[in-house]
Amino acid sequence: MKVTLQNLTKTYPSRTKGAPDVVAVNDFSFEIPDGELIGLLGPSGCGKSTTLHLLSGLQKPTDGKIFFGDDEVTNLPAEHRGVGLVFQNYALYPHLTVYQNIVFPLQNLRGKDKLTKEQMKEKATAAAKLVQIEDYMDRKPAELSGGQQQRVAIARALVKMPRILLLDEPLSNLDARLRLQTREEIRRIQKETGITTVFVTHDQEEAMSISDRIVVMKDGVVQQIGKPQQVYDQPANLFVATFLGNPPINLFSGSVKAGKLYIDKDCIMDVPALPDRTFVTVAVRPEGFVPAADGALCCKLQRVEIMGRDVSVVCSHPGSINSVVRAIIRAEKSVNTANAEVHFSLDARKVFLFDPDSGARLDTVAQ
Ligand code: ADP
Repeated sequence: MKVTLQNLTKTYPSRTKGAPDVVAVNDFSFEIPDGELIGLLGPSGCGKSTTLHLLSGLQKPTDGKIFFGDDEVTNLPAEHRGVGLVFQNYALYPHLTVYQNIVFPLQNLRGKDKLTKEQMKEKATAAAKLVQIEDYMDRKPAELSGGQQQRVAIARALVKMPRILLLDEPLSNLDARLRLQTREEIRRIQKETGITTVFVTHDQEEAMSISDRIVVMKDGVVQQIGKPQQVYDQPANLFVATFLGNPPINLFSGSVKAGKLYIDKDCIMDVPALPDRTFVTVAVRPEGFVPAADGALCCKLQRVEIMGRDVSVVCSHPGSINSVVRAIIRAEKSVNTANAEVHFSLDARKVFLFDPDSGARLDTVAQ
């Protein structure tokens, strides 16, 4: 089911006297194509959960409209929207078994939707099989691992075959290994069911790996929407560039003079299309540094960290905004650690320029 958000805004009244209202979601417009998994990504407080609550019907927007397919649902109560919701804390009923938890939403159906016991059992079993929890039907939630509890919560959200599935930080309470496993599970289940899904997370790696498209938010405002690789390769502004990527992108204070880009005194590349600027923020992805004896960027070597497949070269540069510069290079490419200095040339596709004040992208340096 296609989902359309049209100029969606949610304002909360300020709790402090005299302080302005909180604009949790600000003029958010987006069309989620049928069957896609969308990752809503941004730091805490950027408006992700509010957006999800507006979609679920738990909250009403101050302005704007929401459509599921061609139906406007803006004022439709949550229980009539046909959404499946999964939260971070699973929210299972502790005194009910796995089966009773999963079947619970079906027992509330009334009128023409009312199901027989057999029909309920059939649907609950199918949902349990989908999340691979069918062997634990008689257990109570406390007798399950965190990952298994989250599977039960997903089965419960899916049992009514919702029109859309909404997941609010569903992996946050799991340990690292289970996170990865459950993340893959969610993707498999979503692909198998084809349900349009919105997945909220503050974890960029999680969003990048699971989503068809990511929406990066900051202070209630959408910063960029695109396929994960596209957003990583072509960040719209400095916030997106720094939010995505691990290790994070390296920032330098630079300048443009007569078609050349400088970081401190090092003339690092030609930028013929750019006018002169006294201050420009130069952002370089860690994989954009290429060790080269005649490389223009001259850094002071601090240490080399072996990571197996890759090597992390930690150094400093007078133009660096961060405390260290971190370059990631392939392990077989050697860096002479006997020298105090290391020279890099830069891969132009991994270098982005931004206005230091507004954070706006000035241009790609790619030639
Ligand atoms: P996120 O999910 O990205 O952490 P939220 O959507 O929960 O962000 O919150 C967005 C902003 O709205 C935050 O500044 C938060 O403090 C504020 N906010 C959220 N819920 C309420 C509420 N019920 N009343 C007042 N302010 C709220």
